Amino acid sequence: MRIHLLTNKMLNGTSLQMCLDYWHPFNQHHPNRLEWHIKQLCHYYQVTFEELFSRLSMVRAYDSSIRCKTCGKLYELYNPCDLPDPNYFLDWQCAQCLAFINRGVVDLQGFLASVEPDNEIPF
Ligand SMILES: [Zn+2]
Repeated sequence: MRIHLLTNKMLNGTSLQMCLDYWHPFNQHHPNRLEWHIKQLCHYYQVTFEELFSRLSMVRAYDSSIRCKTCGKLYELYNPCDLPDPNYFLDWQCAQCLAFINRGVVDLQGFLASVEPDNEIPF
């Protein structure tokens, strides 16, 4: 299974099933796939988009075929109908690793501002 889901324990029953269905669309070839998919789900479960959206906020989806090359963290997904091509993510690094690697002191003033944010206050 390529899509790995992390679900909040508050989700159960119909709400959980709705989210599972959201992340496993069955018609991948429909034009405007995401919009069509959402409308199908809302119709099937008799919920508004707002209700669906509030449930979906309790689910995180990850692509098990794309991992950060540094720490191994899975790539987070936001659109079930448009999965990225893993071949373009062979050297992908997560935001945390990139931030850590690129973290550094640029110059003395930048360093002082970061450790003493209040020293710019004029008196
Ligand atoms: Zn990483």
